[in-house]
Amino acid sequence: MCWPGLKGQMNGKPLSQDPLIRNRIAEFACSIEAVRTLAYRVADQQNRNEMGLMDAASVKVFASELLEKFGQIATDLLGPHGQVKHSKWAKLNGAAEYNYQACFVPIVSMGTNEIQRNIIAWYGLGLPRMK
Ligand SMILES: Cc1cc2nc3c(=O)[nH]c(=O)nc-3n(C[C@H](O)[C@H](O)[C@H](O)COP(=O)(O)OP(=O)(O)OC[C@H]3O[C@@H](n4cnc5c(N)ncnc54)[C@H](O)[C@@H]3O)c2cc1C
Repeated sequence: MCWPGLKGQMNGKPLSQDPLIRNRIAEFACSIEAVRTLAYRVADQQNRNEMGLMDAASVKVFASELLEKFGQIATDLLGPHGQVKHSKWAKLNGAAEYNYQACFVPIVSMGTNEIQRNIIAWYGLGLPRMK
């Protein structure tokens, strides 16, 4: 990918006018809305004292991997300027770089995503447990 200059422009145009970038951001926005809806569903189940294991595991996998995707998109878009902080060159004061380094934590913590996928397979889809 070609990186933006300091003014956030590529080929003389703002990044927001690049169709590929718009496409990535729009797709990401759709994913956020999808996981938000799923999270509300889990909250509603908990309010009613129901335990939706598959939905809860799905939210955890979906949201944590979305955060990782955000780290990739943000660092891609900001290029080298997104990888520095406390500098006049830093974009968003290094928030993209910080997120990129920290985004693996939710994938591993609170039960790894591999285990969450097992829960989805066993309790949600009724697949047999592995021996
Ligand atoms: C920063 C951090 C915060 C955490 N917070 C929490 C928390 O709040 N609550 C909590 O309960 N736990 C928490 N954990 C524990 C975490 O969710 C994992 O359960 C734990 O790290 C896994 O144990 P292990 O490191 O011994 O890996 P192992 O059990 O040795 O697993 C190694 C790898 O193999 C995969 N794996 C293991 N067994 C299977 C299987 N049967 N099927 C498929 N893949 C498998 C694992 O997903 C992992 O990727 C946290 C861990 C970290 C690092």
